[in-house]
Amino acid sequence: MKQFTLNNFVRKNILALQPYISFRDHNEFNVPILLDANESPFGECNRYPDSTQKILKNRLSELKNISPNQIAVGNGSDELIDLIIKIFCEPKKDSILMMNPSFAMYGFYATINENTVLKLDLDKNFQIEKEEFLKITKENKPKIFFLCSPNNPTGNSVEDIEFYIQNFDGIVVVDEAYIEFSNQKSSLELLDKYSNFIVLQTFSKAWGMAGARVGMAYASEEIIKLINTVKAPYNVNSLSQELVLNAIDKQDQFNQNLEDIFKEREWLKNEFENINCIKKVFPTDANFFLIEFENVEKVYQNLLDKEVLTSKRTPQIPNCIRINIGNREENMQLITVLKNI
Ligand code: PMP
Repeated sequence: MKQFTLNNFVRKNILALQPYISFRDHNEFNVPILLDANESPFGECNRYPDSTQKILKNRLSELKNISPNQIAVGNGSDELIDLIIKIFCEPKKDSILMMNPSFAMYGFYATINENTVLKLDLDKNFQIEKEEFLKITKENKPKIFFLCSPNNPTGNSVEDIEFYIQNFDGIVVVDEAYIEFSNQKSSLELLDKYSNFIVLQTFSKAWGMAGARVGMAYASEEIIKLINTVKAPYNVNSLSQELVLNAIDKQDQFNQNLEDIFKEREWLKNEFENINCIKKVFPTDANFFLIEFENVEKVYQNLLDKEVLTSKRTPQIPNCIRINIGNREENMQLITVLKNI
């Protein structure tokens, strides 16, 4: 593997900055009378949140067996995607690489930052073609490769992730938003081995807390320091920090919910086998199915007429709809509509 020197990849203006830590959090004064931050003395939510998210990071550190200095917390992983692009990609000059099809937000934030978005077409099994990856990285030298596994919207896990980390001259972001639904091992265990990559996880999917907007980046201490430097000081509100801490303490509930999703996934998979309008159900490691239909427009409209909203992927993936796993009642409604088409 090539020698990786982080500072060669960071935008110069960002290298010159120090993280903003509020006066209170910086000094950790433990006094009861707080007149330092122009807050109100009244109200339930009158104090600013901890800008360093210390308690949450310590708890995540125990949960993931990783140093708190290797964790950044964002307003959903969406925010972290945006920040990572800002750190490494010079506007109008640099490019990012993403799988195609994959999660649209990588391209969205790169475009806002005025970076070129390079797309790596997946093969018929939705895997990356290594030759193509090597070619495009050599020719275009993208700064970041967003590798989504399990991938949204295809549902499959990417094989041989380490190969891409080893062979990319820049930062590889492994987006593990759906990792809890997969048999695949998290790439977190590779963090000791490589310094050019970041793992993203979220409380939005398996933890059932999309509304709280809490996502994590795990990386080297140097990368985490950069993320903390560019983030808004109070990017994760205090209610969300508390909600997530409570959820982590209810591990049994988390396990039960995950079990229920697995059960529903199996149930749906079996039900799909007897439905005529379905052409193909793609294998999934996530909490959704990508399904190819004979007549996608008709299926989508019929579902909508019966108050079931799904995610049509045409024309990106022709004839396909992405459908996420609901509770039994919702899944039954889905199956009933599909059976009647
Ligand atoms: N990554 C992937 C692959 C996703 O599908 C999503 C949500 N659809 C996200 C990240 C964003 O997650 P969050 O809610 O943490 O911003």
